[in-house]
Amino acid sequence: MGRIVILPTVVVDQIAAGEVVERPASVVKELVENALDAGATAITVELEDGGRALIRVNDDGAGMDREDAVLAVDRHATSKIRRAPDLVGVTTYGFRGEALAAIAAVSVFELETAPAGGEGVGTRLRVRAGRLDGVDDAAHAPGTTVTVARLFANTPARRKFLRTRRSETRAAVEALTVLALARLDVSFRLTSDGRTLLDAPRVSSVAERIAALYGRGLADQLVPVEHGDGYVSVRGLAQRPDSARTSGRKAHLFVNGRPFKDPFLVRAAESGYRATIPAGVRPSLFLAIGVPGDRVDVNVHPAKLEVRFRDKAFVERVMEEAVRASLQPMAAAAVVGVAEPAAAGRPVAAQGLPGAAEPDAAGVVQQEALFAPAEGGVPGAPLDLVQLFDTYIVFERPEGLAVVDQHSAHERVLYEQAMAELERGGGSAQRLLLPLTLDLAPEELEVVEQYGDLLARVGFEVEPFGGRSVVVQTAPNPHPRFDARRCLEELVADLARGRLSGLRNRLERFAATYGCRAAVMAGQRLAPDEMRALLRRLFACELPPHDVHGRPAIVTMSRAELERRFGRG
Ligand code: ADP
Ligand code: MG
Repeated sequence: MGRIVILPTVVVDQIAAGEVVERPASVVKELVENALDAGATAITVELEDGGRALIRVNDDGAGMDREDAVLAVDRHATSKIRRAPDLVGVTTYGFRGEALAAIAAVSVFELETAPAGGEGVGTRLRVRAGRLDGVDDAAHAPGTTVTVARLFANTPARRKFLRTRRSETRAAVEALTVLALARLDVSFRLTSDGRTLLDAPRVSSVAERIAALYGRGLADQLVPVEHGDGYVSVRGLAQRPDSARTSGRKAHLFVNGRPFKDPFLVRAAESGYRATIPAGVRPSLFLAIGVPGDRVDVNVHPAKLEVRFRDKAFVERVMEEAVRASLQPMAAAAVVGVAEPAAAGRPVAAQGLPGAAEPDAAGVVQQEALFAPAEGGVPGAPLDLVQLFDTYIVFERPEGLAVVDQHSAHERVLYEQAMAELERGGGSAQRLLLPLTLDLAPEELEVVEQYGDLLARVGFEVEPFGGRSVVVQTAPNPHPRFDARRCLEELVADLARGRLSGLRNRLERFAATYGCRAAVMAGQRLAPDEMRALLRRLFACELPPHDVHGRPAIVTMSRAELERRFGRG
């Protein structure tokens, strides 16, 4: 009998405080988020003894009138949502209405506030261990100051879990840093026992904010990330692979402007680096994801540190693509050799030796641009493309239903491009940040010697490395999933075996083998823009759309045939 009781509010608040307020850094986070939600443009944070003695956050935001100020410290008191549906796509940092109550439950708490445009009379309100302990008039500029003293003084067990002053200070600075990365339009300052530890004036670019928070050094090592696919966009900055180190990296994720933690998404971003960084090296990442509000649930963690995406796998994929795409042009900037664009539409019949061909201005396509998003419409390539079995691209043409084999099509495109490059004397290549070393069989070494000049012209700069080894300094970059090592190994093995030997000359054989090995493979998922770009290139080809083995790249089912089959004809 009577074993169940309803807990007193004070106990409930202390339990809630346990979830929301773990240490001074969490207080800083909650109070600064409130200031941001109130539209502040300047926020200062003061710490004493790592926040254990005192935390004070001042803002120039909207402030509160007296009635609201008294309500604000109650549990479940919020101005940010009204009904459950408001939770979907909520854009404020706060919405649970428990932070102030939770903080006040475990500290000596004081709130001073004045609404903007009020009569200059503000409110001062004190709460001790969760009990309202006085409301007075107070002079305060429009905005709010919250002072949290003696955190956990009434819960000694929790106070014992606090770490040293230094480590609590560091955590608080980190909490403010994260928010400062999210809001460039607000200035932030943090002092600790009178010393300024963070000073971030308003800026217009993330790079400037990073420079203010971490120093110029890191800011200069970052490249912009900007990528979108479907409803997901990713923007931000990623560290150049050659600057990344094994320790001390910063990884910050945001979704719709809200900081959150997710090791899997960080890992997805890291996989965008592929082989450009050695194992154990961790790049710094500052990445902001944009998704429609109903695709992400931000109410899955009491302190809102985690979020849940509706389609996590897709977001991870876009993340990886975004980072990879951002590193591509950077790597290509270190182009070696002749970086003249390849003439996609050049007739292969005009064969000659390097330098003999004139580049043909029309139809010139940069090699890197193959998979770049097409600007505007694509002549001959409809916008509605479907990829079937990760292998075929299906679309409508005036004459009927067209199905393209992505590998055959790309092989054709690369073959023509390679022929043009071989004749003209060089395509674009990128210097590998980590040169590849290959161990070859004797007959393969011979191939490398024999075809060395042609390999260099399509972008592979291969040098002997003693014994049976060669070192590869540069590689072409025909598509984002290109695996340079594998392509070169297979290319050399094919040439050693004399595959495709029926072709007329050495150049053709080489270009055909290269096209086959460098092309996207069946089973590789392509983004809509990639499919469009591939078709555009395919339609610009001079030769009939067959691959180098003579298999068709396009199969069409005519409209007449469809009509006959459906008994319409
Ligand atoms: P939440 O942020 O989830 O709404 P809080 O307990 O953090 O809950 O804050 C309760 C309410 O107090 C907020 O909804 C807001 O209306 C008000 N408030 C808190 N801090 C400030 C501030 N710095 N400036 C203006 N209003 C504030
Ligand atoms: Mg809040």
